Amino acid sequence: MSNNIVAILYLISALLFILALRGLSHPESSRLGNIFGIVGMLIAIITTLMFKSVLSYFEIGAAILAGGAIGTFIALRIEMTALPQLVAAFHSLVGIAAVFVAGAAFYDPASFNIGEFGSIGKSSLIEMSIGTFIGAITFSGSVLAFGKLQGTVSGKPIVFKFQHFLNSIIFLFIIFLIAIFVFNQSPTVFWSIVLISILLGFLVVIPIGGADMPVVVSMLNSYSGWAACGIGFTLSNNLLIITGALVGSSGAILSYIMSKGMNRSIISVVLGGFGGEQTNISSNDNSDKIIKQGNAEDAAYILKNADSVIIVPGYGMAVAQAQHSLREMGDILKKNGISVKYAIHPVAGRMPGHMNVLLAEANVPYEEVLELEEINHDFPITEVSFVIGANDVTNPAAKTDEQSPIYGMPILDVEKSQTVLFVKRSMATGYSGVDNELFYRDNTTMLFGDAKKMCENIVKSLN
Ligand code: NDP
Repeated sequence: MSNNIVAILYLISALLFILALRGLSHPESSRLGNIFGIVGMLIAIITTLMFKSVLSYFEIGAAILAGGAIGTFIALRIEMTALPQLVAAFHSLVGIAAVFVAGAAFYDPASFNIGEFGSIGKSSLIEMSIGTFIGAITFSGSVLAFGKLQGTVSGKPIVFKFQHFLNSIIFLFIIFLIAIFVFNQSPTVFWSIVLISILLGFLVVIPIGGADMPVVVSMLNSYSGWAACGIGFTLSNNLLIITGALVGSSGAILSYIMSKGMNRSIISVVLGGFGGEQTNISSNDNSDKIIKQGNAEDAAYILKNADSVIIVPGYGMAVAQAQHSLREMGDILKKNGISVKYAIHPVAGRMPGHMNVLLAEANVPYEEVLELEEINHDFPITEVSFVIGANDVTNPAAKTDEQSPIYGMPILDVEKSQTVLFVKRSMATGYSGVDNELFYRDNTTMLFGDAKKMCENIVKSLN
């Protein structure tokens, strides 16, 4: 295939990837966006397979089959609630792939047309070492993020004095090593860059506490894009460079939006250790405090007699898969002339857009689903807030307790409505591990039970 045809096909793929990103930015167009992405990737793979330089279709075919089978198996089995850790695990693979590709190019540069071992061009060495650095950070940061999200590693922030300073010094040291590597092309220096970057990846993620994990996942997403971009330079593959840059920049924009949503500084996210000054997870002894408890009939009565209801879904709704019965409940209330809206916090659930996807799946009309800044001023003029499986995103400690790891995060002001109904199974904390004093307020009624069962019972009572 001539170079011109390759360039045109790659350009078409790149355009399709941009259209995919555009489509994925709204639930209504997301299916189409996904199709654009799939077609773009198909064109990219077929075009690449047509290269004269392909040595063995058998090996490539075997790898595609094995990878495709593993991917399909995981996609079919994965729970929606476990997607963030899956994404983190996949990012780690991109990171380590970047390190291996750079390693292969370093030891066998002739295969990559970048010179001979020991006499590789300087620009190739710079590309290679930057790709290695970003790949290694992405690898270890993602492995640790996976552990934290999966619960195999404690989600508590690990903080110590001069953390930012230490990370900055290590970063500068890596730059120094890259400079040495470019001049002496020593394998020892190459592997030192790999090991120290792996260490930096861990250090960047260890201070991040529970509630801040979404920002880290999107930041690692961005890093994995830049790592892929680095591989693209090593392999001299323009499409990989473009795709990597698209993932890298869209991940960076998402990190920016998420850190704004969490009221965190993007610089400290990049350096690692935001929220690092706040170490205490408040663990007030609430055992003697009184809570008001209700059941589905009580909830149905309160809801039926309200004129406005805001539904606040969270992670528990996703676990229980309560979105369909929740929508049914909302429909009945609307039929009774009650205003019903859904309030979405940017980090509700366990991945960006988690609640939007579930509500869209249950056919909740988009115009009833409002983001935090669009709806927060409605709570004081709302009769009932129906909080279903959400916890951290409503916790006023984010506004009042400077020691709390969620301090500074904007929350949905449910407490300002006349009555707050909390559907959850127990008094347990949310992901951040912080107690929620709203449970003990006079205007709160706790509805203990599985979110889906509770909605079904409320629907029965309403009918
Ligand atoms: P939370 O994790 O704060 O709270 C969820 C609540 O749901 C829990 O308190 C739990 O209480 C309840 N719950 C669990 N299962 C059920 C069930 N079957 N039925 C009813 N209730 C249930 O969730 P939020 O959505 O409020 O906040 C999200 C948190 O996750 C934030 O801290 C955020 O930073 C973090 N996070 C978000 C990510 C994202 O991208 N959105 C990614 C990673 C972390 P109980 O056990 O008593 O039922």
